[in-house]
Amino acid sequence: MERKYMAPPYRIKMVEPIRMTTREERERLLQECGYNPFALRSEDVYIDLLTDSGTGAMSQNQWAALMLGDEAYAGSRSFYHLEKVVRDITGYKYVIPAHQGRGAEQVVLPLLVKHKGMYFISNMHFDTTKAHVELAGARAIDCVIPECFETEKYHPFKGNFDLARLEETIIEKGKENIAGIIVTVTNNSAGGQPVSMDNIRRVRKIADKYGIKIIIDGARYAENAYFIKLREEEYKDKTIRDIAQEMLSYGDIFLMSAKKDGLVNIGGLIAIKEDEELYQKCRTFIVPFEGFPTYGGLSGRDMEALAVGLEEALEIDYLTHRYDQVRYLGDRLLEAGVPIQYPVGGHAVFVDCKKICPHIPYYQFPAQAVVNELYLEAGVRAVEIGSFLLGRDPDTKENLESPLEFMRLTIPRRVYEYAHLDVVADAVIAVYQRRHTLKGLEFVYEPPVLRHFTARLKPID
Ligand SMILES: *Cc1c(COP(=O)(O)O)cnc(C)c1O
Repeated sequence: MERKYMAPPYRIKMVEPIRMTTREERERLLQECGYNPFALRSEDVYIDLLTDSGTGAMSQNQWAALMLGDEAYAGSRSFYHLEKVVRDITGYKYVIPAHQGRGAEQVVLPLLVKHKGMYFISNMHFDTTKAHVELAGARAIDCVIPECFETEKYHPFKGNFDLARLEETIIEKGKENIAGIIVTVTNNSAGGQPVSMDNIRRVRKIADKYGIKIIIDGARYAENAYFIKLREEEYKDKTIRDIAQEMLSYGDIFLMSAKKDGLVNIGGLIAIKEDEELYQKCRTFIVPFEGFPTYGGLSGRDMEALAVGLEEALEIDYLTHRYDQVRYLGDRLLEAGVPIQYPVGGHAVFVDCKKICPHIPYYQFPAQAVVNELYLEAGVRAVEIGSFLLGRDPDTKENLESPLEFMRLTIPRRVYEYAHLDVVADAVIAVYQRRHTLKGLEFVYEPPVLRHFTARLKPID
C-alpha cells in the first residue's frame, strides 16, 4: 500500500520519559533564561526541536558497536575501521577524526588562509563556519541563488550557488585572495535546502578555472544525496551511496559534523582527497586542538558508533522516513496558512517569521519572539535563524539584517513520532493565530561572538 508519509522503519526498544510543564512554569522559566531558550534546561522542554545536531537515537547496531571500541591513544583499531568506512564513502585518501564539525573547521580553515585580506565564498556559511573563517582573519561571502530568499516559491534546489555571482566575486576579489569555495550540503541556514549535482559540477568547473580548492561542508551530505535522487531526473535510479560519492568527487576537502548524518551524539571528520601537504599540516595542528590524529577528540567507542552510523544514514528507508517527517510537519503548517520555506528541506521546517510578524523590525528579532511564544504555548523548543543569529558586522559593529527571519523546527533523527509533530503543528498554528500580540526583544547582555548561544534578552513593552 502506498502511504503519503512513511511509517518509521524501526521499532522502539527503549524509551526516555519526557515531562510536561504548566503554562505558569514556562512563563517563569522563560524569564529566568533571559528569553533565550538556549539557556533552558532540556528537562523543562517537552518536545525539543532546537537542533538535529547530536540529538538522534542510535540503532542497536551502533550500541553494540560501542563494545568494539579500542581506546588506544595511538593507532586505535577503531580509527582504522572508521578510516576505511570514510574512505569507501568519500573516495578520499586521508581521514582525521575531530570531536565535532567546528573542531574540524578550526584545524583546516586557518591552514587555507595564506595572507591578509582573503575570502571564503560559500552558497551559505553555517554560523560556526563563518566564525572560524573570521577567527582565521578571512571574510565570508555567501553566493546562494536569489530563489533561496523567496520562501513561498518552489525551487527544487534552493541551496544552489548563483554561479554568475560566484565567478564575478572571484574576479572582483582576485583569485589569489580566495581561500576556498565552501559548498554547504544541505544549506542548513536557509532551511536544509539541497544543492543539485549539476550545480556542484559547475562550481567545480569554476574552481578549476581559477585554481581554487573546494571544501564540502557535508554535515547533511546524505540528505542532500537523497534530494538529488528525488529531484534530479538522471539520478532517480542511482543508489544514495553512488550519488554521495559523485557529489564528493567534486570536492578537495570534506568537513563533517558527524552529529548530523553520522547518526552519532558527538563526532566530526576531516577528509582530504589527495593533498598530502595539507594533510600533514592537519595532522600537526589537530594534536593541540583535538588530540592525536588517530582519535581527534573521540573515544574508540565513538569512532565505532560513527563507522556504523555513516552506513545507516545512507539507507533509503531511513532517509525516506526522515524526509517524510519533515514534510508532514511542513504540510500541516501549510494547510493552516503558516508561511514556511517551501519546499521543506531535509532536517527542519523553517517558519517565515518576517511574514508572521511584520510589525517587529529585524533588530528586535521577530523570529526569536515567535520561538519564545511557541515555548509558552506548548513547551516546544525551536531556534531562531535570523538577525539574532547573524550578529554584527565585524568592521562596523552594526546589527546585520538577515534577509530571512526564520524559526527553525529541527527534527532529531529517529526520536519523535508523528504524534509529537501534531503537538508541534497545533502549537505553531495557535501562535500564528495570535501573531499580532507578539512583541520585539532587546538585549540585556550581548556577548561579542556567537551571541545567540548565551545572550540575555527582554521583551520591549
Ligand atoms: C552543525 C554544522 C557545522 C558545525 O558542526 P558541529 O558539529 O556543530 O561543531 C558546520 N556546518 C554545518 C553545515 C553544520 O550543520
